[in-house]
Amino acid sequence: METQDETFGRRIDGKSELDEALDRWHHKAELRFGPVKHLMTHPGENKPPNVEKWDRRFLDAAQLFSYWSKDTSTKVGAVIVDPHRRIVATGYNGFARGVDDTMERLEKRELKYEMIIHAEDNALLFAQRDVSLCALYTYPFMPCSRCAAKIIQAGISRVVSFESMEPRWLESFKLSMEMFKEAGVNLTLYSL
Ligand SMILES: [Zn+2]
Repeated sequence: METQDETFGRRIDGKSELDEALDRWHHKAELRFGPVKHLMTHPGENKPPNVEKWDRRFLDAAQLFSYWSKDTSTKVGAVIVDPHRRIVATGYNGFARGVDDTMERLEKRELKYEMIIHAEDNALLFAQRDVSLCALYTYPFMPCSRCAAKIIQAGISRVVSFESMEPRWLESFKLSMEMFKEAGVNLTLYSL
């Protein structure tokens, strides 16, 4: 019978449910972003990781932290999660501690860009620990190229965010994608 053959085939293949779930996810990621060089796994887990459910949870958390930003135009949140799904650090875009975030400064775009720390950068700074093999979640869009470089250098293995067509950042996002791909950082983007 077909079902039995399938089961038999699976046994011969020697693949566990976890392997299969990872394969499916791997395949899905590949369809979107080309070959995936690095895939975060959770050693010791005996259940297939429900990747999308956990991604959704941490993206929700990133969204929550984005609201803490005082930036009047763009509010971004970031969450760093270790391979055991524990939140290591959070961040949102804002000025450095103790620096006055006055309306006057926030409303002058050029001045603001010179002073502001991006959410991802803040999360990396707050972590104050080794974040290699951790995942980084950002809302509402993926890291800019400058943050991407720091994320790669910090050893983050996976970045999860939402697709964005924000014209001001499009070139930067393209560059981030290129860098993540070259450096072997897995990138998963969901549609909002
Ligand atoms: Zn950035």
